[in-house]
Amino acid sequence: MEHSEILRQAADAGVRLVSFFWCDNGGIIRGKATHRAGLAGRLNSGIGMTTAMQALGDMDQLQVVPGMGPGGEVRLLPDPDTFTILPYAPQRALLLSDLMTLEGEPWAACPRDFLKRMLAKAADLGLTIQAALESEWYLARREGDGFAPLDESLDNSSVGMTPARPVVDDILDALERQGIGIEQYHTELGHGQHELSIRHAGAVRAADNHLIYRETVRNVAYQHGLYASFAPKPFPDQAGNGCHIHFSAWDLAGQVNRFYDTADAQGLSPLAYQFIGGIMEHLPALLALTSPSMNSYRRLSPGSWSTAYVCWGPDNREAALRIPSRFRGQEMASTNLEFRPADSSSNPYIALGGLIAAGLDGVARDLRPRAEMSVEQDPSLLTPEELERRGIRRLPASLPEVIRALESDPVLTDAMGPLLTDSYLAIRRSNWELFSRHDAEFEIKHHFYKY
Ligand code: GLU
Ligand code: MG
Repeated sequence: MEHSEILRQAADAGVRLVSFFWCDNGGIIRGKATHRAGLAGRLNSGIGMTTAMQALGDMDQLQVVPGMGPGGEVRLLPDPDTFTILPYAPQRALLLSDLMTLEGEPWAACPRDFLKRMLAKAADLGLTIQAALESEWYLARREGDGFAPLDESLDNSSVGMTPARPVVDDILDALERQGIGIEQYHTELGHGQHELSIRHAGAVRAADNHLIYRETVRNVAYQHGLYASFAPKPFPDQAGNGCHIHFSAWDLAGQVNRFYDTADAQGLSPLAYQFIGGIMEHLPALLALTSPSMNSYRRLSPGSWSTAYVCWGPDNREAALRIPSRFRGQEMASTNLEFRPADSSSNPYIALGGLIAAGLDGVARDLRPRAEMSVEQDPSLLTPEELERRGIRRLPASLPEVIRALESDPVLTDAMGPLLTDSYLAIRRSNWELFSRHDAEFEIKHHFYKY
């Protein structure tokens, strides 16, 4: 969008504050706002921010990362195409931002730039990536010092839609007015749990949309006196919140789905198998990017449809990669891969960038997934001998294990680059160090409303 058009729309809508938002290494949406009076200048020069923001832990405790201390500045430079007047807060608007150096180059610790760099590598192979982040969330009330689910509804039950209807209608209205396409809605397995899926888009836009979506759901719920939580496991005795990542690779014109091939029994191209092979190869290190918080490991357990094994399978909700069945008449358009061990405590740019890096490594090395690693049932029901024979490993059950896996995965860390890797790992370690010193209640409380 032209800057002049942003200024015109902001003035017409009576916008006072425009937030320049970004998502940090902890998956937290942060930002600073400018008054409209200064917007014209700040669209060009950005808003100043300390480099330390990429080194702040869950309690804003500053981690030791060279170059990220009390000295040092970057610029939050907004992407004009993301300008959004907020329907739930009409005097406000947002712009999603890149982190730039003072010289005007992308900062090496910018998550959005990491995703753009991976997309540029894909483009070198003639590929564009479409993605959709399919999020689940709870609606809850405050109860004393904690939260309680809004109702006791069951999966896909209509009774859960009734108490949530006023909130969900306002969420729909707000999303539509922000130009976010809505796909489907249903109540999920947990009490008070919902899933409202949004339309796929180019990968950067898909990650941007996920942030806009999280902001919208949280704010609208709050206006109804409720709290929305995207945390991986907000209630220990209820289902977790996934943020399954659907993605597909298309040609540069966006016309041909390069994952689709009628010659194959599963309708998948050699390229799709290479992506699957690359992702199998880089699990569990990828989990450090897609399921990055201590609370994530309360969610990832066998028998809860969140996945717990390194395997893939047709329509298998217990597989790390599900191959969704296609829709008749829309075979090419509906061909995609669904990565399931992902949640909204991740940074969507880093999670998508990591998935693409793993997939491209599969292409570069022609890694094809082992056919025996494709399972149609719950892998936890296979005997240890059968798992061994098929080469199916259990996903790690704790954060330190995936941190170690990422530390020793040069494909992912080289793709991220040293500054993003070091700061990211420092934040992941600090999440573990903080919450491993406390009980489950403390961990849940401090993840519940961050996401
Ligand atoms: N809530 C499950 C998860 O944690 C997913 C349930 C479903 O298949 O939608 O991923
Ligand atoms: Mg779901």
